[in-house]
Amino acid sequence: MSEISNTTYLLLGSNEGNRFDWFEKAMQQIKQTVGKIVTKSSLYETAAWGLEDQPDFLNMAICVETALSPLELLAAIQQVELNLGRQRTLKWGQRTLDIDILFYNHDVINDPQLTIPHPLLQERRFAISPLADIAPDFIHPILNKTIAQLLEDCTDPLPATLIAD
Ligand code: ATP
Ligand code: CA
Ligand code: CA
Repeated sequence: MSEISNTTYLLLGSNEGNRFDWFEKAMQQIKQTVGKIVTKSSLYETAAWGLEDQPDFLNMAICVETALSPLELLAAIQQVELNLGRQRTLKWGQRTLDIDILFYNHDVINDPQLTIPHPLLQERRFAISPLADIAPDFIHPILNKTIAQLLEDCTDPLPATLIAD
């Protein structure tokens, strides 16, 4: 583990059980195993995307300072998902907790297990809306647009409804 601090943006999602509670528990564990949570977005609710016959999702984005490498970060967030009872069933299916890495600094990573920036970010209003709360001026290293611009350009018809600050 390097001592260098890296800035990562994570998206939390849940559509099963007490969704707020999963986020609180996830953030406690992220503080312990990933690093300091610098900023948090508001909470947004969105109908399920991709596989529609399931409960609505709650999403939020957080900015974390971490000394972990990208693959160490992936392992750490997968451990948090497991600790909080996530079971891998259907692709895009219902889950207690999903944590996706949206950005890691401005790095571009194409590893078999890990793609950063998250490849579907710009197509998902439920991801861009919370991210725009905390990083409107962050420039996407492949698309070369700010998050605020990506939100303006987003054609995702599913609204992300602000439900709590
Ligand atoms: P999506 O990535 O479309 O939101 P999902 O979150 O439902 O789908 P998962 O089942 O949680 O998908 O993850 C499948 C795999 O995606 C993980 O095992 C991980 O190796 C890989 N993966 C690739 N890039 C990323 C990333 N940026 N963040 C998290 N996981 C990633
Ligand atoms: Ca996801
Ligand atoms: Ca995921």
